[in-house]
Amino acid sequence: MHGRQGQPDFIEIRIAPHGGMRGRCSLCRQPAPGYDRLPERRWQFVPLWGIPTWYRYAPRRVECAAHGVVVELIPWSDGKRPVTCAMMGFLARWARRLSWRETAQVFQTSWESVYRSVEWFVQWGLAHRQLQGVEALGVDEIHWGHGLKADNFLTVIYQIDAPCRRLLWVGKRRSEATLRRGLKALGPEVIRRLRFVCSDMWKPYLNVIASEAGQALHVLDRFHITTHLNQAVDQVRRAESTRLREHSQQQAQKLKHMRWPLLRRGSRVRGRTRQKLDALLASKLATARAWELKETFSHFWRYQSVTWAGAFLDYWCYRAMRSRLEPMKKVARMLRTHEELLLNWFRAKGEISNGVVEGLNNKIRVVTRRSYGFRTYEAMEIALYHTLGRLPEPESTHRFC
Ligand SMILES: [Zn+2]
Repeated sequence: MHGRQGQPDFIEIRIAPHGGMRGRCSLCRQPAPGYDRLPERRWQFVPLWGIPTWYRYAPRRVECAAHGVVVELIPWSDGKRPVTCAMMGFLARWARRLSWRETAQVFQTSWESVYRSVEWFVQWGLAHRQLQGVEALGVDEIHWGHGLKADNFLTVIYQIDAPCRRLLWVGKRRSEATLRRGLKALGPEVIRRLRFVCSDMWKPYLNVIASEAGQALHVLDRFHITTHLNQAVDQVRRAESTRLREHSQQQAQKLKHMRWPLLRRGSRVRGRTRQKLDALLASKLATARAWELKETFSHFWRYQSVTWAGAFLDYWCYRAMRSRLEPMKKVARMLRTHEELLLNWFRAKGEISNGVVEGLNNKIRVVTRRSYGFRTYEAMEIALYHTLGRLPEPESTHRFC
């Protein structure tokens, strides 16, 4: 222990090789005759009693029959990193519960060293994860950072099978090239075994999924369609609100503070807000008609048969097209274009659960929105795999958390 005036600064643990045991080759792990010794190095270990702790050791070099003169296998270390595997695992596990900055502060180390630890942990996990059971993929885009540049979107690929839901891949942009890259990273074996792919109506995704995973049933998920409907209702409300304010304050009052109640599912609006909503619906406002169309569409998901669902869709689109509400007509046109994919939802009935993609997206937002002090895209990508990838973890002799 090293310290000043009775206060410990750090603990140093000197390690000596066992006299009777030969070093092992770091490449093939076989014992080999000794060659020479390198200068002493330090590795950061898990803090003991809150005191920074270091290993000190002069690694031997061995002369392996197969690999020549190489550094011996050092069981607590990986490559040239100045941190022990135990400490990297320790920091990485804490970095899931605290922000990286907090982790660095609490354990008296640098942000950089937390970053490198998580990186090591994630790389190990990605190299050792099993992809055999993947049958259902969810593909989605996530907005990230500020602005609407192409680089501000991420494409994410999830596994959405009931037993295992996790992030499989994330990449910059939302182009065909991005998704191709992601599917390639998963490997042809995984793609060949896919039974379901779930996505939004985003054209580049539709194209790639059709060409790369043609055998899988492509489903447009409810969450995205609801989003499109809500956006349309909101557009109608905003336009109408502006229009009314120019003519009649009294009418405009009806739309005030109604943004969120209008976007919620009707059955979930209660109390005074409900009264206000009812008053709005009783009016002949365009917003009321748009809301009514949105609300009616929710029946679509309750059908059992593809035929009846198809008939309902036709009926709904017919009504929307006659509504004289341009945003609703736009949704109707979009739904008509993708009718087959929409009806796949009923063909996959029961196999894909509804809110999975939405749930995973929300978790991703927790990581990307709350500032974890990620300075680069690369750091954030690692954080996403770390929190949502359900990756296997490296074995370690010491487990401190
Ligand atoms: Zn060897």
